[in-house]
Amino acid sequence: MPPSPARSAAEHLDVLIVGAGISGIGAARYLKTELPSKSFAILEARRASGGTWDLFRYPGVRSDSDLHTFGYEFKPWRDEQSIADAPRILDYLRQTAAENGIDAHTRYHHKVLGASWSSDEARWTVEVERADTGERTTLTCGWLFCAGGYYRYDEGFTPRFEGLDRFEGPVVHPQHWPEDLDYAGKRVVVIGSGATAVTLVPSMAGTAGHVTMLQRTPTYVMPIARRDVVANALKKFLGRRRGHALSRRKNIAQQRLVWSACRRFPKTARRVIRWVNTRQLPAGYPVDEHFNPPYDPWDQRLCAVPDGDLFRVIREGRASVVTDRIATFTERGILLESGQELEADVVVTATGLNVQAFGGIRLTVDGREVRLPDTLAYKGMMLSGVPNLAFAIGYTNSSWTLKIGLLCEHFCRLLAHMDTHGHDSCRPEPSDPGMPTRPFLDFGAGYVRRAVDSLPRQGDRMPWLTSMDYRDDVKLLRSGSITDPELVFARAAARAEATA
Ligand SMILES: Cc1cc2nc3c(=O)[nH]c(=O)nc-3n(C[C@H](O)[C@H](O)[C@H](O)COP(=O)(O)OP(=O)(O)OC[C@H]3O[C@@H](n4cnc5c(N)ncnc54)[C@H](O)[C@@H]3O)c2cc1C
Repeated sequence: MPPSPARSAAEHLDVLIVGAGISGIGAARYLKTELPSKSFAILEARRASGGTWDLFRYPGVRSDSDLHTFGYEFKPWRDEQSIADAPRILDYLRQTAAENGIDAHTRYHHKVLGASWSSDEARWTVEVERADTGERTTLTCGWLFCAGGYYRYDEGFTPRFEGLDRFEGPVVHPQHWPEDLDYAGKRVVVIGSGATAVTLVPSMAGTAGHVTMLQRTPTYVMPIARRDVVANALKKFLGRRRGHALSRRKNIAQQRLVWSACRRFPKTARRVIRWVNTRQLPAGYPVDEHFNPPYDPWDQRLCAVPDGDLFRVIREGRASVVTDRIATFTERGILLESGQELEADVVVTATGLNVQAFGGIRLTVDGREVRLPDTLAYKGMMLSGVPNLAFAIGYTNSSWTLKIGLLCEHFCRLLAHMDTHGHDSCRPEPSDPGMPTRPFLDFGAGYVRRAVDSLPRQGDRMPWLTSMDYRDDVKLLRSGSITDPELVFARAAARAEATA
């Protein structure tokens, strides 16, 4: 069937990358280096690159992974700080884009709304909205690479709080931080106990009168050195490139060791964390009340605090932790179920994200809507029944980008394989439709649990498992075979007819 006139008028690209965050910029760099003849563009909904590291503007926003592993394998991390704040990460990402000529391929204010796959034409037709003008345009592409992150950009998550309207002061969500928020000398309550809360509390405590972290359930919190002296020494003596590579290997091994030790020996891990916390906190501090979660270490992401800054502000009396439930907001603060009232001038709801897969893009395949919960993730990077679509979801138990690098390598190898063999499309299909399934992200964090029914699932065997282990993924994605009985390659009907 010849392409319709409307289709043939649309610009066509070999690969369309959705999102100019750390994953999208990384994917573009791999594509440019490994497959320089491929045409591609990054479509970015916002007016700037960087994704997460440009969006969040709350005080102290930083990584909790070290940048030797959270940064790219191909670009050495040069900064002295290994745990880095958002501006340093943003500089690094934008440098990567500039050095690799990726800026010229990036189209800002381009929000991808939907993509429809046609098997006859072996291409996606992608519907785009110009976020600045509201204009709608259409593009076509051979491959769609979704690097749209994992959460909604327009709205953070806030649970329903009784009486919230009664509170007379500002209530701020970290995802929408007002530039002019003045909290100097004021009483601040930060609701939450995750990575954002433990970042905000010490940062705000420098200026605020007092900061209270109000949590329903404690989280595991461990101090981590902001500067990695070994990495800095390696880079000094071996040069940036070799020093970065070695530091990266060291930190991958370290992350893996900590994670697997916590999983294998949870009781011992719990005792070690408690011991470290006790040494960081003032004598007689109720450690078990505020720092002893009801779950095992790494059932949810462990919170890292650089140089123990959270513990320091608690020791100095500038911040405190309250573990209780909110009964209601009042005009002057928050009334807790215990009967205690926390007076506050400013309340920050560090209550999390709204998970959203694939940038909220509506997908159809040959006219049929793709329902994500009906799909299975193939090698953690493609979807069953969906041709020519790859996605970038990183690790939840170590640095996100470690996985992104490996899956970009695999993606480029897959495209090269298809070119060599004259294939236009490939689609993962499980040979056993009755295979037991489980959630794609097997992780206890609240934001993941809330979204579990809207995400793809994973199977119980390779290649349908989503690995969270770097070493396994090196075997699978870097050196493992591209072909596989569960991956169906094809040639477009239109092209096959034309060349017959
Ligand atoms: C505050 C914070 C700190 C974090 N710290 C760490 C850490 O230390 N270590 C770690 O491993 N992980 C961390 N994470 C998790 C994760 O690694 C980061 O969010 C990471 O930056 C994700 O990168 P990404 O490029 O995949 O997605 P994002 O950074 O979310 O970027 C996605 C981009 O896609 C764009 N986009 C989305 N949908 C569309 C669409 N439909 N059309 C066009 N464009 C679209 C967005 O505008 C955005 O620019 C953190 C997350 C947060 C929120």
